[in-house]
Amino acid sequence: MAAIWQVAKDDNQAYPALDGDIETDVLVIGAGITGLTTALQVAEAGKRVVVLEALRVGGGTTGASTGNLYAPVTKGLSTLRKKWGDSVIGQVAASRTEAVDYIEETARRLGVDCAFHRRPLYRVLTDDDSALNNSLDEELDALLCAGLTASLVSETPLPFPIHRGLKLDNQAQFDPLRYVQGLARELSRLGVGLYEYSSVLDIDFDHCRAETATGKVSAESIVLATHTPKGINLLQTGMEPLREYGIAARLSGQDYPQGILWVLDPFHSIRSYQHAGQDYLIMIGEQHKTGEGEPGVDYYGRMESYLRSKFPVASVDYRWSAQQYGSADGLPYIGRRHGSERVFLATGFAGDGLTWGTVAGRLLGDLILGHDSRWSELYDATRFTPVKSMKEWVKENTAVAKHLAQDYLTPTEVKALDDVPVGEGRIVALEGDKLAVYRNELGQVSAVSAVCPHLKCLVHWNPGDRTWDCPCHGSRFEIDGSVIEGPAYHPLARRLSSE
Ligand SMILES: Cc1cc2nc3c(=O)[nH]c(=O)nc-3n(C[C@H](O)[C@H](O)[C@H](O)COP(=O)(O)OP(=O)(O)OC[C@H]3O[C@@H](n4cnc5c(N)ncnc54)[C@H](O)[C@@H]3O)c2cc1C
Repeated sequence: MAAIWQVAKDDNQAYPALDGDIETDVLVIGAGITGLTTALQVAEAGKRVVVLEALRVGGGTTGASTGNLYAPVTKGLSTLRKKWGDSVIGQVAASRTEAVDYIEETARRLGVDCAFHRRPLYRVLTDDDSALNNSLDEELDALLCAGLTASLVSETPLPFPIHRGLKLDNQAQFDPLRYVQGLARELSRLGVGLYEYSSVLDIDFDHCRAETATGKVSAESIVLATHTPKGINLLQTGMEPLREYGIAARLSGQDYPQGILWVLDPFHSIRSYQHAGQDYLIMIGEQHKTGEGEPGVDYYGRMESYLRSKFPVASVDYRWSAQQYGSADGLPYIGRRHGSERVFLATGFAGDGLTWGTVAGRLLGDLILGHDSRWSELYDATRFTPVKSMKEWVKENTAVAKHLAQDYLTPTEVKALDDVPVGEGRIVALEGDKLAVYRNELGQVSAVSAVCPHLKCLVHWNPGDRTWDCPCHGSRFEIDGSVIEGPAYHPLARRLSSE
């Protein structure tokens, strides 16, 4: 299932897989917006840089995002304000505004045609719900407190009536995939070694060495720009992995609303996008915890029904889903990895990581180059914030404990391989082993171990995407067990295949 940005795949340059052993100054793992922004900072300063990417450039969440760029955060600056206070939301807004300006300036400087446009951001309520009404007032106050210019409105570019809205001018939108492809082209021109289909399978943090199936890279510094850190990392214990669904449609009329349009009740993010003269309406929504989709619910169907209830949809052309990771205290973790002077990471961006990833790339660049950064203390990845993090930490760890106990002890949904329905996956207990079993349309069965190699939780079947998803820390796997994303390095062990 392809994201809308694949519509512009014409300018997608390919890079080779790593083949052999290399020494470099900076190794960046992950070619999303975080990794490539970091790589650009250090390459332009004259460092030798290598980038290893498991998929294609932008093939992770960056290329599946909505392409909205804004100073506040989706959950609201008012939410951050309650935890962190007035001064911090001012710094959040300032660092994010600088990052959006940087994207605009970088796209212009490098000649990247990524459809960057300045647009207003709207948060709107369609019903008179008192709890959310208050939140709109609180958000207005927080935006003003953070130095942003915002106002309440009663109309928006949406073609349906709203109850109340909030408008923030001078935010932006772009095509995230073409932007990072542009960064990759520039890196290649600067002599950076960019390698696709080069999944890192092991990292020796003490000696700054990483290994793929076909080579090794030794470096002075390593940047983990893999969205969530690979392997076991304490930060994962408080981070919530969530899935969200996206669709892109053509409308029967010409009325494509412009702006970042967030309908809050329930949350749907809507925007328009034009490529090669064709308009599309993009919508993201139906968020749920990874591995915890409601049984029997067709999330793509729900998205389509909602869109059709609000717009004259002619056709739905793209459907996809993607993952985000929220931090325990609401701010991203950007900086040195715990206990390592030479290893850096950036994670915990929630649904706001195009801008956070850019803040991170610039901040990590400064740290690696030994420059001062105004934001390094605030976003420090080793910070200890027990009071601000406690609620999320308890929630996440209770959920992990529940999955570890309940999923192992509860009898499986089906007793035998033969009971797995066609086109579906089920967990089956066989000779003391828990198997993740899939039956294809021809009736053939394939089975992999259901035990996630990251921290041993049992994976769950995701019927919408036909994947095995781990509800504990968000690792996701193909039917054949290979890693799609998340902290796991290694695939689900293969057990049997009747294909
Ligand atoms: C549906 C959705 C919509 C969103 N929309 C927006 C938005 O409009 N605005 C916004 O600001 N944020 C948005 N976000 C969040 C934002 O997209 C992400 O936070 C951001 O793209 C993260 O960038 P990244 O570079 O850190 O991670 P990614 O883009 O995921 O890049 C990480 C890369 O690391 C690679 N990798 C992983 N493991 C390995 C390995 N072992 N070896 C080598 N490479 C590896 C991956 O393949 C991937 O390409 C959205 C998120 C979702 C889920």
